[in-house]
Amino acid sequence: MYTTQDEQRLYNLAKTLMDADGENAESTIIQLREVLNYADWKYYVQSEPVLADVEYDTLFKKLQRLEEQHPEYVTADSPTQRVAKGLSEKFPAVSHLVPMLSLDNTYNADDLRDWDRRCKELAGTDDIEYCAEPKYDGASISIIYENGQLARGATRGDGVMGEEVTTNIKQIRSIPLSAAFTKAGINQIEIRGEVVINKDVFTAYNTQRIAEGLSPLANPRNAASGTLRILDPAEVGKRKLSAILYHISYYTQTGDAIPDALHTHYGSLNWLYELGFPTPVKEMKRFRSIDEVIAFCEAFEVRRDDLPYEVDGLVIKVNSFALQDKMGMTTHHPRWAVAYKFKARQATSKLLRVEFQVGRTGSVTPVAKIEPVPIGGVTVSSISLFNEDVVREKDLHIGDTVLVERAGDVIPYIVKPLAELRNGTEEKIIFPTHCPVCNEELEKPEEEAVWRCINISCPAQVVERIIHFASKDAMDIRNMGDANVRKFYELGLLKNIPAIYTINWDEVSKLGGFGEKSVTNLQTAIDNSKQQPLNRVIYGLGIRHVGETMAKTLANAVTHIRDLYDYTEEQLLALDDVGPKVAASVLHFFHTQENRHMIDLLEQAGVNLVNQKRNTPQGSGELEGKTFLFTGTLSRFKRSDAEAMVEAKGGTLLSSVSSKLNYLVVGEDAGSKLEKAKKLGTVAILSEDEFLGLING
Ligand SMILES: [Zn+2]
Repeated sequence: MYTTQDEQRLYNLAKTLMDADGENAESTIIQLREVLNYADWKYYVQSEPVLADVEYDTLFKKLQRLEEQHPEYVTADSPTQRVAKGLSEKFPAVSHLVPMLSLDNTYNADDLRDWDRRCKELAGTDDIEYCAEPKYDGASISIIYENGQLARGATRGDGVMGEEVTTNIKQIRSIPLSAAFTKAGINQIEIRGEVVINKDVFTAYNTQRIAEGLSPLANPRNAASGTLRILDPAEVGKRKLSAILYHISYYTQTGDAIPDALHTHYGSLNWLYELGFPTPVKEMKRFRSIDEVIAFCEAFEVRRDDLPYEVDGLVIKVNSFALQDKMGMTTHHPRWAVAYKFKARQATSKLLRVEFQVGRTGSVTPVAKIEPVPIGGVTVSSISLFNEDVVREKDLHIGDTVLVERAGDVIPYIVKPLAELRNGTEEKIIFPTHCPVCNEELEKPEEEAVWRCINISCPAQVVERIIHFASKDAMDIRNMGDANVRKFYELGLLKNIPAIYTINWDEVSKLGGFGEKSVTNLQTAIDNSKQQPLNRVIYGLGIRHVGETMAKTLANAVTHIRDLYDYTEEQLLALDDVGPKVAASVLHFFHTQENRHMIDLLEQAGVNLVNQKRNTPQGSGELEGKTFLFTGTLSRFKRSDAEAMVEAKGGTLLSSVSSKLNYLVVGEDAGSKLEKAKKLGTVAILSEDEFLGLING
C-alpha cells in the first residue's frame, strides 16, 4: 500500500501542513487529502495511529476550510466527504451485481471430510489447496468501486436485492473512499465483506445506554446491522463500526490479462490489503489437506473468545479461482466454500414467569425465569428483559418456547419466542403499576424506557445500593454478597451503607451459618475496605450516570470527597467526559442532605475519603503518613503555600476533622473544626509558629 518512503514523506508532509500551506489552494487540498487518507489507513486498518487526535483534527479542519473556499477542488474521496447530513428517506432497494449466496454449514470433522471428498470429485483432482479464515458475526455488505471511487454500498438484504446504505458505509473509516483499481486495469469491482462492532466498543456502548435508561442492543451482530440502517450518519459514525472484506465477487477490466493476484482467493485478499482494504490477511491460512484444516478449526474455536470481535465459525474456501469456477454453485450455496460452525450458543427453553426487580436507582426491570438450559458451558435460568418496550417488541408470553442466545462475553438474551409452538395456553405479561416491593406508584420519566419507583427509602433500592457499594468493582468487600446483605437487612442488622461498618457482630454470630471463621473473614474484608481509594468510594455511592471511569475522573479532580460539595455545574462540565446529565446528577447527589450525612458517617467509620495520589506526590518525606488540616485566618503565610509545604514533605491534607487527622494548624478565629479536634482528643493542635517549627524540623 504505502512504501516506507511514502510513509516518511506523508508523515513529514503532515507535520509541515500543521502550520504551513502548500504553493496554492489546490495543491494544499491535494496534500491534505493524501495525508488524512494515509492517517485513516494507519489508524483504522493498521491500528497504528501516526497522528495525535488534535493533529488530525487540525488538518481536517484546515481541509474543510479550504474546500469551502474552493468547492471546485472537492473530490468524492476527500475525507471530508464521509461527513454527511441526515437522511430523510428510507434506503432505496438495489440489486447486487452477483447474488450474495449463503454458505453451506458444517459442524464437525466428519462434515468437513465429506465436503473435501465432494470438492475433489467436482474438481477432478486430489490436489486442492484450501484457505481458512474467521467467519465474522456481523452484517454482510457489498461495496462497489467505479473508476477507483467508492460508488455504492449495500446491505445483503435477501441476497438478490439489498438496501443502498452508501452514506453510512462511508462512516466506516477503514473502508477507503478510493483505491488504485484503475492502475490494475479494473473499471468496476464488487467486494463483499462484513461490518462488525468490536466487543469492547459494544460493551461500552451498552453500558452507556443502560446508564441513560435506554435498552441495550442485543448483540454485536444486531448492533452492526441495525447501525447500518440508521438514518443519521453522524450517529453511525459514533458507533465505531469496523469492516472486514473477504471476497471479490465481480469485476470488469479494460485489458484481457487478469491481474496476477486475481488467480487465487489468498492472492486477491492480499492484493486488496495492499490497496488499503481491511482484509483478514493475518488470520487467513492456507492448507494442503483437510486434516490440517480440521486441526486449525479446532484450535481456533478454543481461542474464539480472545478475539476482539465475535466469530461464529470459520469459512473454508477452495483457493484457486479456476477450480472455483469449475465447481460452480447450487441455487443456494457455492460448492467451493463451506462454513465450519462453532458450537451453538443458542438453545430453546420455556418462559416460566417474569419477575420484576427493583434496582438501586429504582428502575423496575422485567426478568424472565426460564427452565434452566445449558448454553456454551453455562446454565442459564434467568434473563433480563430490560424494559417493557423489549417485551412488547418481542411479543413474549408466559409459557412461550423461547430461543435463547449467549454469545461470548455478552450476557444471555432471548432472541425471540417460537410463536409456531404456541398452544393457546400462553399468557400475556402484565406490567405492575406499583413498586412490587414498597407499593409506591411507578413513574416513567420522559425519554426513558424504564419504569421507576421514586421512593428513595424503598427497601429494594436500599438493599441494591448496599450490594453495589460492597461489590467487587466498588469497595470489594469479599463475602458481603447479595445473600448476606439481604439477610442482614431483613434482620435489621444493616439499614444503610455506613451501617456496614457498625454491624453488631454478636448478633451475626448467633445466626445459623456464621461460624467464628466466617465472621472474622467478613470483619477483615470490611476493615480492609476502609483503605480503598477514593474513586472506588465514589463509584460505590451509586450516583446515577457515574460509572467506574467517571468516578475516577471525579476522584482525581479533588483532594477530599467534600470538595465536590462546592463544585459548580460549570466546574463539573470542565472535567473530562462530563456532560449535562452527569453534572446534574452529581450536583443533586452532593446537595442532598441524606447523602452528606452518609458521607459523614463513612468518615466517622474511618473510610478513606481522600484522594491519596493527589495528596502524596511522588516519594517520601519527613511528613510521610501524617495528615494536616488548616483552619482559621493564617497570618504568617498563605494557606495554599502552607499546604504546598506539607505536600512537599510527603504529608497528606485532609479537609475535615476526623480520627484520621494528626495535625490541625490553627489561625485566628478558628471555629468548629478546632472545637471538634479538641473533643476528639487525638489531634495535635498547632499554632502557625509551631507548624513552621515542625516543617523546618
Ligand atoms: Zn419501591
